[in-house]
Parts: sequence; structure tokens; C-alpha cells
Amino acid sequence: MTRSLGGAELATSIRNDASVAAAALAEIGVRPKLAVVQATDDESTAWYVRSIASAAKRTGILCDIVDLGAVASTEQIRSTLVELGHDPDVHGIILQTPLPDGTDLDALREAINPAKDVDGANPVSLGRLVARLPAFAPATAQAVIALLDHHGISPHGRTAAVVGRSTVVGSPVAHLLVQRNATVTVCHRHTTDLAAGTRDADILVVAVGIPGLITADHVADGAVVIDVGTTATADGQLLGDVDVAAVDGRAGALTPVPGGVGPVTTALLLNHTVDAAATQYAQTRSDSLLAGARSSA
Ligand code: NAD
Repeated sequence: MTRSLGGAELATSIRNDASVAAAALAEIGVRPKLAVVQATDDESTAWYVRSIASAAKRTGILCDIVDLGAVASTEQIRSTLVELGHDPDVHGIILQTPLPDGTDLDALREAINPAKDVDGANPVSLGRLVARLPAFAPATAQAVIALLDHHGISPHGRTAAVVGRSTVVGSPVAHLLVQRNATVTVCHRHTTDLAAGTRDADILVVAVGIPGLITADHVADGAVVIDVGTTATADGQLLGDVDVAAVDGRAGALTPVPGGVGPVTTALLLNHTVDAAATQYAQTRSDSLLAGARSSA
């Protein structure tokens, strides 16, 4: 029997902590605010963004959805990100993908102010994460580690395989697992024998976006399988990358889709926003104290 590693309880607990911290900030006049920039008419993306906004509201965080429309240019999106980066009332910024065809995503990620980069998208954030310096980790990657911790599964000394190497999920998950002392294999679209890369892993993290990619052949007996994949179907279902029926009984534990990594990711985004608001408030206070000390010196 495969154990289900649900994310709802952990997500609630992270959101509760964020809510308490947001209330404390509100008492000193700081209202944490998240801006989500989107440029698509894809309905499943719009649904996801609305779900972040409603979770933010319930947590005491303001959330602006900045919808630039499905034909926005790289320059329009870039200048919006720069403007939000300078807006003292905005503490966190998320750039939602997909973006219009031909958009220069790398240039846009660099335009997110690192202090407000609550989804760890700017290469500065990723570099700091790899260098083990304080930074916001991409929320999904952090959610994978948080779920393992929550369910009492330690990566220390274990073998892990990560399928997918994107800069927002696969690569940062692999780094975080190495930082937790796992021995990690990374597989991707050019891996010639995927099962050979995954079938001995104690912990298997899959972040691809191909429903049913992972079958019993890819999974070691008793392995912990974290399914990050989310593919929306025409009839409104959300499918993970793991063939659940095929791995049932072979995997020791598996995250459900939906209800596994997703809710924890959203909760961490809110938590990062509150942290960013607190840090920016402290920075502003120290800047104004310094300016006051200089002017009276
Ligand atoms: P991406 O398209 O940027 O990256 C996909 C990765 O999969 C690439 O590294 C590619 O090399 C690899 N890949 C493609 N085909 C493969 C194959 N046949 N075998 C092995 N590897 C293969 O996607 P992403 O942004 O990293 O997202 C991955 C999945 O995670 C998507 O389904 C996305 O919707 C989902 N996602 C979920 C959350 C969440 O909160 N649950 C958050 C972000 C992304």
C-alpha cells in the first residue's frame, strides 16, 4: 500500500504562520502586498493566479493581479516589473508563465527586484541559493523539501533522482537535495534511459509535465515519489507525471495531484511575501535612521 503524502495540512500551517506575521506587520502600518504579473489568456493559468489571490486575501496579504494581456511585448512586461520593483507598497513580485511566444523570459527574470523575488526567479536568487547564501528559493522547489520534512522523510545519506532540470523546479530541487546531503542524479529530456536513472533512487522527484511518464519500471520498491507535474486537461482535471495506478504498491509514498506540492507552493509564496515585507520595512527604517544620524552629525 502506497502512503499518500498530502500537502493540505502543511499548507494550512504555513499560511497560519504567514497570517500571524502579516497581522503583526499590519499593526505597525505595513500591509504585505504581492503583485502577480501575467500575460496570457490561458484559463488554467488565470485560475491558478486567482487561487493565489484568494489565498493571499485569507492570509491578510494584498494581491494585485497585473494582467498585461496575451500580446504583451517583452519590453512592456519588463517595464512593468521594473516599476513594481521600485514601488514601496509592493513587497513581492511573481512573473507567471506561460508568456506570449517570443518573449525573452531570461531578460524578464533579471528585471525582478531580487529583494521582492518571492519565487526565486531572478538568476541572482538562484545563484545565491546554489552558493548557500540567504535568498528566496523557488517556492515549488522549497515545497518539495518542506513536504519531505513534514512527513518525516530525511534526504540525508539517501539516493535521490530528479526528473526535469528547469531553473524554477528541477535544478533548484536538485541543489536543495544535495544541500540536505542526498546523492542526486538529474534526468531530463536528453536522458537516454530514464528508468536507469530513477529506479534505484530512495527519493524520486518528477517535474516534467508529461502525464503518466513515470511507471512502475521507474520506481524502486518503497521509494518516496514526489510528483510536481501538473497538466490541466480539457475536461478540467489536473494530472501529475506519475501513473498512479502503475506505481501503487511499489512506491512507499506518493504525493497526490492535486493536493500535494501545489498547495504548499502557494503557501510558501505568501510566506515569502510576508518575509520580504518585514525585511523591506527593516531596511527602510535603518536607512532613515542612518540618514537622520548623518544630517544631525
Ligand atoms: P519545464 O517545461 O520548464 O521543464 C520540464 C523539464 O522536463 C525539462 O528540464 C525537460 O528536460 C524535462 N523533460 C521533458 N521531457 C522529458 C522526458 N521525456 N523525460 C525526462 N525529462 C523530460 O517545466 P517546469 O516549469 O519545470 O514544470 C514542470 C512541471 O511542474 C509542469 O507540469 C508544471 O506545470 C509543474 N509545476 C507545478 C508546480 C506546483 O506548484 N505544483 C509549480 C511549477 C511547475
